[in-house]
Amino acid sequence: MLRTLDDAGDLRSKAVIVRCDLNVPLSNSQITDDGRIRASLETINRLVGAGAKVILASHLGRPKEREVELSLAPVATRLQELLGKDVKFSPECTGDLAQALTSSLKDGEVALLENLRFDAAETSSDPQQRAAFARELATMADIMVSDGFGVVHRKQASVYELAGLLPSCAGLLVEAELKVLDRLTTTPSRPYTVVLGGSKVSDKLAVIGHLLPKVDRLAIGGGMVFTVLKAMGHNVGKSLLEEDQVETTRDLLKQAADLGVQIILPTDIEIASSFSAEATHKTVQADAIEESELGAEVLGLDIGPESAKIFAEAVASSKTVFWNGPMGVFEFPNFAHGTKVVAEALTQVNGLSVVGGGDSAAAVRALGFDEASFGHISTGGGASLEYLEGKTLPGLEVLND
Ligand code: ADP
Ligand code: MG
Repeated sequence: MLRTLDDAGDLRSKAVIVRCDLNVPLSNSQITDDGRIRASLETINRLVGAGAKVILASHLGRPKEREVELSLAPVATRLQELLGKDVKFSPECTGDLAQALTSSLKDGEVALLENLRFDAAETSSDPQQRAAFARELATMADIMVSDGFGVVHRKQASVYELAGLLPSCAGLLVEAELKVLDRLTTTPSRPYTVVLGGSKVSDKLAVIGHLLPKVDRLAIGGGMVFTVLKAMGHNVGKSLLEEDQVETTRDLLKQAADLGVQIILPTDIEIASSFSAEATHKTVQADAIEESELGAEVLGLDIGPESAKIFAEAVASSKTVFWNGPMGVFEFPNFAHGTKVVAEALTQVNGLSVVGGGDSAAAVRALGFDEASFGHISTGGGASLEYLEGKTLPGLEVLND
């Protein structure tokens, strides 16, 4: 059984370190989508209300050392606005400064530590290094609350080791996310369709094998589709491609056929002359990417309009849909069409529709959809996929009795 905040007892005057996922998209130090901050508020408010001394910890981006552009300082400012109360910012995540600041907190006050990944020990592959870093974090707190759903699939110091060092439990966001995902894993209404896209190609190709026995239809778009097209023998120009995954992908396609899972692939692709918002672009057949007048050096940046329609029909006629990963480079308006059409179809599902993933959730909001028209918008992409695969997630395992 997962330990939750309800099991945590009286938190008055207790120093509670909360591992949040405040990894928001930034552009020139401006937060472009604050969804993950808003998703963290419920737990923070609950702790503030209980009179705890609240110490928030998170990562931002993937730095290996201190990088000014990846400071959490702008997040502290936004959090302060959303909470309507002061958030003290510690420019270090551990050490004397952090100690001094967190030990000065009064009941119900909130502090945010600097980006955990400025210390390479947070994500080290060496358990000793991670444990040492977790011990430093643990000295500041009495209790740990794990609420960064987007990172519970990672064996990282603040997620895994820290939860083992202190009395720990899941926060309200993690609880809420698991409630929805459990509905997807235990007897989903059928047809059950999973739509995959985005750019973390090898990560996502790796989950397909585990999803195949569970789903009826699997639609693939986004950056990962080019590895699949390559596996089918098509040329993909300069599109995102994981050459070393081509063989595995071929096996997966065969496995899908054996299991009777319908694999839905784009029939047309929106190609571009370069990776830019203003690039010349055109729609071509998926098996003729290199054959247009734009030449062979083109990049596929979106699924084409015909594909978007096919994907949308598969989605809208399903009873359960999970979607992770944009269908194209939606940040450029010329390549946002596929993502927009698929998102629109999710809003029409007569059943449960779930959007998962930081960028997918941001895309839905950036494209102007009302969050309420989806069954659930998950803050975690990789974490929710691994949960759906039935894997044990290290960050959840440590919270179990
Ligand atoms: P999520 O955060 O939802 O799990 P990912 O992080 O895997 O999604 O991928 C999101 C990114 O994928 C977006 O920034 C988008 O621009 C990019 N992307 C989608 N399609 C393509 C493509 N065809 N080529 C390059 N990048 C792509
Ligand atoms: Mg992402």
